[in-house]
Amino acid sequence: MSKDNDYKHVNYLWDDKESDVKDPVERLIYRSNILGDDQRVTNTGGGNTSSKIKMKDPVTGEEVDVLWVKGSGGDLRTSKKENFASLYMRKFEDLESIYNQVDEKGVKTEIEDKMVSMFPHTVFNLNPRASSIDTPLHAFVPYRHVDHMHPNSIISIAASKNGKKLTSEIFGEDIGWMDWQRPGFDLGLKLREVCKNNPGLKGLVMGQHGSINWADDDKECYELSLDFTEKAARYIEERDKGELNFGGKKYEVLPAEKQIEILSNLLPVLRGMVSKDKKYIATVQSDETILNFVNSHDAPRLAELGTSCPDHFLRTKIKPLYLSWDPINEDYNSLIEKLTVGLEQYRKDYAAYYEACKHPDSPAMRDPNPTVILVPGIGMIAWGKNKSESRVTAEFYNAAVEVMRGAEIIDEYIALPNQEAFDIEYWALEEAKLRRMPPEKEFAREVVVIIGAGNGIGKATAFRVAKEGAHVVCADLDEEAAEQTANELMDIYSKGIGVAGTGVSDCGPAIAFGVDMIKRQSVQDLFRSIVLAYGGIDHVIITAGIFVPPTKEGSISDDMWQMTFNVNVTGCYIVADEARKIWDKQNLKGNMVVTTSANAIVPKVGSFAYDTSKAATNHLVRELAIEFSPNIRVNGLAPATVVEGSTMFSRERVIGSLAKYKIAFSEDEETESLRDKLAEFYAQRTLTKSPVTMEDQAEAAYLLISSKLSKTTGQIIGVDGGLHEAFLR
Ligand SMILES: [Zn+2]
Repeated sequence: MSKDNDYKHVNYLWDDKESDVKDPVERLIYRSNILGDDQRVTNTGGGNTSSKIKMKDPVTGEEVDVLWVKGSGGDLRTSKKENFASLYMRKFEDLESIYNQVDEKGVKTEIEDKMVSMFPHTVFNLNPRASSIDTPLHAFVPYRHVDHMHPNSIISIAASKNGKKLTSEIFGEDIGWMDWQRPGFDLGLKLREVCKNNPGLKGLVMGQHGSINWADDDKECYELSLDFTEKAARYIEERDKGELNFGGKKYEVLPAEKQIEILSNLLPVLRGMVSKDKKYIATVQSDETILNFVNSHDAPRLAELGTSCPDHFLRTKIKPLYLSWDPINEDYNSLIEKLTVGLEQYRKDYAAYYEACKHPDSPAMRDPNPTVILVPGIGMIAWGKNKSESRVTAEFYNAAVEVMRGAEIIDEYIALPNQEAFDIEYWALEEAKLRRMPPEKEFAREVVVIIGAGNGIGKATAFRVAKEGAHVVCADLDEEAAEQTANELMDIYSKGIGVAGTGVSDCGPAIAFGVDMIKRQSVQDLFRSIVLAYGGIDHVIITAGIFVPPTKEGSISDDMWQMTFNVNVTGCYIVADEARKIWDKQNLKGNMVVTTSANAIVPKVGSFAYDTSKAATNHLVRELAIEFSPNIRVNGLAPATVVEGSTMFSRERVIGSLAKYKIAFSEDEETESLRDKLAEFYAQRTLTKSPVTMEDQAEAAYLLISSKLSKTTGQIIGVDGGLHEAFLR
């Protein structure tokens, strides 16, 4: 092959015009990025690439061989130079003599893990990137360029009962077979041996794992990776059984509306069930591919076998929870019953697996809840410690389904033996990696809904809680403004990794929705979308409110009076009432913060509809605090006179106030300058004598939902610079 138009199952992306102007290290990055760009060639975070490059030693000036190899962490698709480790080849090869000094060596011996701590001694040019456990595979293969990939089509062969036979049938002499062995120093030495004994060999199918191939020319190595994947994919495609894949259809797909109805009820219940220990965020996958699998005859058998590629089950766990629920003939209640029983059994199975496979020095058992749940008629629900992680989990199970499909088409799928799976999941090196991770941020596993996030205090609060790792739902009557806030957050925090999620569930840590909180249907739609995006909610903060200035005579129309109460009181109640339905299903801790006003306490001329409505909001906070206890704390935030950038202070209102307080101003002045004058006047009335900012409000909103104020509920916290008239008594 090796001609672009011949490929059907991979994208040929190499462009000489691009590669020719690059230096050897840049060419490696280029090759890595275009390999990682194709999901069919390798999964997110999976696989690695290397080049042995001649470079000048910074100390001696001598030309030396340097192994550039994708390091620990990161992803081929997005890798930059800093994702690659660089090691002196000579020094790395010298490590073998240390390895050979002990008698007990080989896979899973103490010395094998110890070798990893020797890798830093071979670092070239002080490169700080840690080298991965796959490094010896690249170092010891005696060719200049090596690609190790996780293509679904090749893993299908690698996870087939007769994988070895199929490999020679499909690839002939070019590609060999190597039985499953977990990566490490020993596997590197074995690869060197295989290459030495088979000089014509271009690559290997690595049993239960993936592919590895090599060449002395980098473009040739890239094309080999594609040929290899393409050939496997073609072999599978030619034998595809279409509708009879996975033993044919057992269950029907539910209509889209029905799926959404069930999911929006099910997800919060499920989230509560799997989050007893720590909270999780969901990603929903309900496209045709996953539905073909979950609705099939063979899904229960295959799901029970578990995933194969070791890279996958670190996130997907050894197996998913499959619910044998008939979407057409059984109802929602029986789904919940099956779920309850299924989860119980899953946790027992997981504990039994841990007990059966553990070693005296194994780390303690991890969370026994499933991270992948399969529901016929509906699809897959994947869980992770944040949105990005749950999307990776979903992506990996999508890959596992593809692997099983291929293996079952050409042969019979077999999973990794439990003990091998365990020895990867609880590998001391993996445990060390987990321990090295920075501590999780306070809201990393939580969803904060902000109504009024398009501007002002709401927007400032969105930025404040995002800083603590929250998933932020930016909701506003002004949908465009909400989108603006969400986009700004996404620019800072990025979407994360993982290619999965159907519809709104394919989102990042911030998402925007329009909502009219005085319309119950609109609020219901909002919460349904949030549940589909993340699986549930934790905190709801309402900053939206309305101030209608009275006429010059000081009166307000009946309509405007009604409107003020609708937004400031009834709207808050509707949001609370709808949020409660989700909180009740989750049965997890959460918070609500309602923005009221210092005016709720201080009567003033010229704002009686607003002030009266805010007094009612204060009492709503107290009522809700009683109703929603013990899981949900409800508090009020009472700002005063946040003038800067506030949509509540229109030019008209600012001018009205300046006139009222007899402050000199000119009609020609810019609105911001008028606002500054008013803010300064307000500041001088306060005990702290400084203007009250939106950031001050955002800080208080954050504190109210954080665990720092976990014993405070039913309270109104004033953030008003100190207004003695507004003291609560
Ligand atoms: Zn691998």
